[in-house]
Amino acid sequence: MDTEKQTSEILSGDRRALSRAITLVESTREDHRAQAQALLQNLLKSGRKALRIGLSGTPGVGKSTFTEAFGMMLVAQGLKVAVLAVDPSSARSGGSILGDKTRMERLSRSPDAFIRPSPSRSALGGVARRTRETIQLCESAGYDVVLVETVGVGQSETMVADMTDIFALLLAPAGGDELQGVKRGIMEIADIILVNKADGDLKSAATRTCADYAGALRLLRKRPQDPEGFPKAMTVSALTGEGLETAWNEITTLADWRKANGIFDERRAAQALIWFRSEVESGLLSRLQSDPQAQALWSSLENAVQGGEIPPETAAAQVLDLFLNKAQRIP
Ligand code: GDP
Repeated sequence: MDTEKQTSEILSGDRRALSRAITLVESTREDHRAQAQALLQNLLKSGRKALRIGLSGTPGVGKSTFTEAFGMMLVAQGLKVAVLAVDPSSARSGGSILGDKTRMERLSRSPDAFIRPSPSRSALGGVARRTRETIQLCESAGYDVVLVETVGVGQSETMVADMTDIFALLLAPAGGDELQGVKRGIMEIADIILVNKADGDLKSAATRTCADYAGALRLLRKRPQDPEGFPKAMTVSALTGEGLETAWNEITTLADWRKANGIFDERRAAQALIWFRSEVESGLLSRLQSDPQAQALWSSLENAVQGGEIPPETAAAQVLDLFLNKAQRIP
């Protein structure tokens, strides 16, 4: 595929070209990787930037419903919205419940929305790379908002926070006064907590839960880098649409404030460094793992390590020395 042609098709907002490019960045084939990198390098020049919003929440809190309603609201305001998913469970199950188009029927039909589910059967690291690159592709294609959804399990939240500008946590109203066992680390990375289902019988519970979280957020930390009142907890209803506009206003207020204070770009620069480091680390490992001699030595040392004949660190050093000495000999 001609990279220049592909670049101009994506820049012109051609959805099929965008889909094809995402398929390209998802591929692990070496020639595809090289093409993908050339394409991404080309697209960087466009300098287009979307607002990247991370959205996390456990299954059932209403992510699909929220994304559909929130996305439709943004589209009605004339914005173009892309929805991506990082689903750690899809690596195991081979299927994804995130970014499922049938659960976002109206949004998926909108010409101004683009929905892409999580790729299945790939390691979380692979999903992360593909998502970061897909975000970049969507930005280049002219999307104003890129929403990256994830479920509240494992490392996926930190990963999504590391690739977005604003991180929102979606919660459901709690029965009692307990804070739903939300992990402290997740509270710490959330810029905004949205207590969903604040409607009908659940409204008062949602209001109470929201107050609990607002209190917890105040105790948890002060963020000198953010304006007064952030991080913030608020109630929304994805079902009735109540609070969605306010949530969007809060998100843009925070993003604008960060832009005006240089924090927005600083954060993106820091994220690029995280990405760079992780590419070096994973690249090193995959090269080591695909080196037949290093692999052979690695396997042959396993018995000795298991039998306690050689310290694991010494065995590791032998494998690394062999690999690195070989690498040095490559002209
Ligand atoms: P997900 O698993 O996080 O994507 O959650 P879904 O969007 O599939 O929603 C799970 C259930 O919660 C569905 O039955 C939705 O109809 C319901 N739900 C989602 N948002 C709301 C809301 O704002 N209010 C109420 N009452 N129910 C909601």
